[in-house]
Amino acid sequence: MNSTTYTVVTLGSHSALQILKGAHDEGFPTLAVTNRDTESLYRSFAFVDEVISIDHYAEFMNLVPILEDRKVIIVPHGSFVAYLSLEDHKEMRVPYFGNKAILDWEASRELQRQWLSRAGLNLPRQFKTGAEIDRPVIVKLYGAQGGKGYLFVRDAADFEDRVNILGERDYILQEYIIGVPLYIHYFYSPLTGKLEIMSMDRRYETNVDSLGRIPSRAQEGMDIEPSYVVVGNSPLSLRESMLAEAYRMGENVVRVSKEICPPKGLFGAFCIETIITPDSQFYIMEISARIVAGTNLFIDGSPYSYLNYSEPMSTGRRIAREIKNALLSNALGEVLDDASVI
Ligand code: ATP
Repeated sequence: MNSTTYTVVTLGSHSALQILKGAHDEGFPTLAVTNRDTESLYRSFAFVDEVISIDHYAEFMNLVPILEDRKVIIVPHGSFVAYLSLEDHKEMRVPYFGNKAILDWEASRELQRQWLSRAGLNLPRQFKTGAEIDRPVIVKLYGAQGGKGYLFVRDAADFEDRVNILGERDYILQEYIIGVPLYIHYFYSPLTGKLEIMSMDRRYETNVDSLGRIPSRAQEGMDIEPSYVVVGNSPLSLRESMLAEAYRMGENVVRVSKEICPPKGLFGAFCIETIITPDSQFYIMEISARIVAGTNLFIDGSPYSYLNYSEPMSTGRRIAREIKNALLSNALGEVLDDASVI
């Protein structure tokens, strides 16, 4: 195995510890790109072999010429994608785990909707104008992160009363689905063509997840607005009778991704964000086309990953295992973006 000749590199944030620990466990040297604030944290872990520190993560592109001269593979995560623009991503020629073409489909809410509906997934209804609203909706501001600044609106009249809060900002009006939010973490192997459910989590959001602690009778007149600010994630195991549908949704998303971004489509880690209603229907809020932070709960593996691997298998480690398997079968190009130089 010549995996030792490639160094796995990622940005020091989000799920970098999981990614680098997984790479180390699979025999790769590891490199963390940090900033001055995070440098000492990443240096403190024995599985981080090398640290390069930059002033701001947005300056990552300045490092690209150095990385292009070395034998490295970038493993991106949510913050990596947020710090670099789509253009920077495409410009970079450093070997990159994943398919960059899918980023355009992920970044646009409209394209995401097309992708997910072509895959036959249930999507909450969307309303074009306030006057069309005929049920509770969630008003989603563009560019809001982690659910910050979302509004819950009861009906068209409620929207009319409060629309001025939104000012000039762009937003979408989406049917509010009442149910349990479940985030399903998948891994699709382009080498074997097999999809795996790696783990799942539910988000814990303030204050919406604590409104039930006050009886609705007592809430009356208190003027409490639900908010959706993420505080953390907790593990969850899904009723087994619902697991087949969760798996099918992942398969369908991968199948359609090969049509919209041929030939490779979506591969590696991804997450479907769902809400499950009392009639056991999954409604899809969003898809993330890479490793999500909720997988950090499972650095030691999850009940689901244990079923496939009788050893600790995080999503980060699963990524490194895929790169290793690709190297062993002389098929590294299969797991890298096509624009990567090898
Ligand atoms: P992130 O990028 O961190 O995933 P975000 O800003 O894209 O967050 P969403 O994931 O779209 O935000 O939504 C944030 C939260 O709002 C969800 O976790 C969920 O609690 C709630 N939410 C979103 N869409 C709906 C919906 N259609 N019905 C009910 N609740 C919703």
